[in-house]
Amino acid sequence: MEANRKLRKRGTPASSGIGIGRAYLVDRRRLKIPKRHISEDQIEDEMVRLHAALESSDRQLDRIKQKLQKRTEGDHHNIIAAYQLILHDEHLVDEAMRLIREDRINAEWALHQTVEHIQGVFDAIEDDYFRERRSDVGFVGERVLRNLLGRELGPVKPPPDAIVVAHDLSPADTAQLHRAAVAGLVTDVGGKTSHTAIIARAHEIPAVIGLEDISTVVETGDLIIVDGSMGEVFINPEARTVAEYRELAHKEAAFGAALLSNRDLPADTADGTPIELLANVDHTDEIQGALNHGAMGVGLFRTEFLFMAGGEDDIPDEDEQYEVFRSVLEMLDGKTATIRTFDLGADKMTQFIGARHHEVNPALGLRSIRLCLTEGVRPLFKSQIRALLRASVHGPVRIMFPMISGVDELRLARAVLDEATEELRADSVPYDPHIKIGIMVEVPSAAMVADLLAPEVDFFSIGTNDLIQYALAVDRVNEHVSYLYQPLHPCMLRLIRNVVEAARAHDISVSICGEMAGDPVVVPVLLALGLRELSMNAVAIPEVKNIIRSCRQGDLEALIDGVTSLGTVSEVRAAVRDYFLSANIEAAKLL
Ligand code: PEP
Ligand code: MG
Repeated sequence: MEANRKLRKRGTPASSGIGIGRAYLVDRRRLKIPKRHISEDQIEDEMVRLHAALESSDRQLDRIKQKLQKRTEGDHHNIIAAYQLILHDEHLVDEAMRLIREDRINAEWALHQTVEHIQGVFDAIEDDYFRERRSDVGFVGERVLRNLLGRELGPVKPPPDAIVVAHDLSPADTAQLHRAAVAGLVTDVGGKTSHTAIIARAHEIPAVIGLEDISTVVETGDLIIVDGSMGEVFINPEARTVAEYRELAHKEAAFGAALLSNRDLPADTADGTPIELLANVDHTDEIQGALNHGAMGVGLFRTEFLFMAGGEDDIPDEDEQYEVFRSVLEMLDGKTATIRTFDLGADKMTQFIGARHHEVNPALGLRSIRLCLTEGVRPLFKSQIRALLRASVHGPVRIMFPMISGVDELRLARAVLDEATEELRADSVPYDPHIKIGIMVEVPSAAMVADLLAPEVDFFSIGTNDLIQYALAVDRVNEHVSYLYQPLHPCMLRLIRNVVEAARAHDISVSICGEMAGDPVVVPVLLALGLRELSMNAVAIPEVKNIIRSCRQGDLEALIDGVTSLGTVSEVRAAVRDYFLSANIEAAKLL
């Protein structure tokens, strides 16, 4: 059978390296609902099945409710209680039972029909609040269906050395994969700066994404080669191809090891401008690896993964977070950690958030700092800030707020910080009163008013992953528009320049922590724009350092004069290529 399905497919290269292994299929798509007619003597069984699924759902919701009640001061456990009311509502239960009995259909189909009917009723109501309730009914229905189908969303557990094949993976799924030591990852959807791709890179899992239909053509057990550098995937290749790729993987590993040898060299340009190279990390267990790659500190610690790691309803409390931050600072041993308050929502969903909001445009919705400033989530936000402040006595730490869009929002976030410091002071809990507070500049409005934000913070960190998404109106996780996702777009250069100039004028530090900071081709442009701190996936540090050590600051200044007046991405790339060629920098071949 394998012999009939030899295929070669091309997608978006998301994480370099070569992985060879057997396919392990993960199905994270919407549920397919089986439709069956049943005989008279099966009616009782189907009703019992539905009853059991309703009971399991009730128990699961109870557990979530108790955890929320225990861990937060707000009243969002009431939302779960409302779900439980839906679960017991006669319109749902009695109607589904009636359909099983009278229409003689299986429990899944009966439940689905009932949920659709109720949602239709809500749709017809001309009131936004009620229309939104349709998603609550949908959420409850989906949970019961998963219980009926035995398809609870548990963790992905592939065998070691597998190639994980999925329609899509959540960032939380991907974060679990490195623990399973998988050999590679391929998906139907996704963009290069989706969090799934970022995490694959952080864990050095070769990955190709945006393959459109890979999850339907591959079967568990197929032999797969993933070439994450070229974006190619081979399904059941010839033995000869496997041998070729094993050889290539061997060479790449040797090349990677050679690069690491520059770890202890300074990241100074050839004419002596020091550049700080920092790591973006999502988990404490990445820190040692980051230091091994030559990171001089952590420029972005994404704390939202603390909320996503432990399963759907596991929210860490203040003490647990304090312990995490303390261990980060201990591992860094005097190097600075910039820790970002949790940035949940959009593609970083947890059940805790997902259960509460259905949004048509999640990237523009109630995510990140906006979510933190809502009444329900504010206590959780404050407890994280308290944990950060308490940890600040163990080493240099900076607190960073994500997705700030302007001065008002910054002040609201700072008000929570002020409350937290006030509380600690009143209780004589020690913290560093000089702790630095900064923001991500990742919303175009913030980049435009950087001069107004700068006096109110200690630092900026430019988040180009989102800044590109919002400024160019290109969904960062949508493979259909990924060709428009262009870090070297003239608009991006102008926005970055604006932010750097505002930071300089107000004498605050500015770094860049989007993925473009780790792109060797882009780095000279960033240096030319005046950036001196770059935070990236740690695996990119050795190569970026090599580029920096070959660049001359004087030449870069000349480069930028030309580049910021160019009109197209290809002209910008051509100017960088000319510079690389004239300076004899090997990376010219990448362009
Ligand atoms: C960014 O948006 O550039 C960023 C670094 O944050 P994240 O990728 O987590 O959205
Ligand atoms: Mg961002």
